[in-house]
Amino acid sequence: MNTQSHIFGPVPSRRLGFSLGIDLVPYKTCSFDCVYCQLGRTTNKTIQRREYVSKKLIMKELEERLTKGEEIDYITFSGSGEPTLNSKIGEMIRDIKRMTAIPIAVLTNGSLLFEVEMRDELRNADLVLPSLDAVKQNIFEMINRPHEGLLMEKIVEGLKKFRKEFENEIWLEVMLVKDINDGVGDVKQMTDVINEIDPDKVQLNTVVRPPCESFAMPLDPVKMKEISKMISEKSEIIASHDRRAQTAYEKEIEKEIVTLLKRRPCTIEDISSFLGMHRNEIVKYIEVLEREKRVMERRHGNQSYLVVSEDEMRPM
Ligand code: SF4
Repeated sequence: MNTQSHIFGPVPSRRLGFSLGIDLVPYKTCSFDCVYCQLGRTTNKTIQRREYVSKKLIMKELEERLTKGEEIDYITFSGSGEPTLNSKIGEMIRDIKRMTAIPIAVLTNGSLLFEVEMRDELRNADLVLPSLDAVKQNIFEMINRPHEGLLMEKIVEGLKKFRKEFENEIWLEVMLVKDINDGVGDVKQMTDVINEIDPDKVQLNTVVRPPCESFAMPLDPVKMKEISKMISEKSEIIASHDRRAQTAYEKEIEKEIVTLLKRRPCTIEDISSFLGMHRNEIVKYIEVLEREKRVMERRHGNQSYLVVSEDEMRPM
């Protein structure tokens, strides 16, 4: 089990196979506060770029990890918030490319791509996966709850410019939330903008439990297919595959989470510190346990707790 604080995994990822995550910002530093975020509410909403986590520390931890010879499909900048807020991301990508041939992916909300320096810093990545959930300012504000300095129009411009300048693949993710951005008119507008951006792939996703806000509900598979047809020939629905079939899914960890929750309700943060694992890893297990209705979410004030189901509490 990895207990280092800024490198996590490899975690089985829907899109990237076995992904070794690098966390460049403290929990939870982001320019958005998306209603569907699995990490909880943003506590530091900012557009200020700085070296939130030291490059030196990250490079040292990564070097150690790479000597283990684990199966890694991608080194992925993701984690506890928006990775492009770290002002050293460009230098880190450049130095990692010198260190290993493993491809580098960057998961970003795309909010800073309107800045020329930002686009330039990502140019050595092998794959960039920006998200775009709205094209109208009011829907953007509803779903992504952005920092007040951010305008949808500028973000779209940034994505278009990035497409023109970036030579490798761009996979654009659209997160669909029931009754917020799934209206026919909104999807049509989004389609036009996506065609102008022209990413290599469009990946449609919907809310996975537990989201930040309980009102953020997923779309059913039929609606997802309808929207996929409307959006683009390049669009695909990101299948919710069986995490258990992957070797990085450890039954022992699942058992430890259930045992802990039988003792008391916990937040994802509680489970993460108890097991010494990164939140993003814990979220993968919770996703499986929630789908199987063994674990569920309970709200208490602003806080979201996980509890085990009654069936799970019954003695076998
Ligand atoms: S989903 Fe991503 S962009 Fe949205 S709040 Fe969470 S970390 Fe930030």
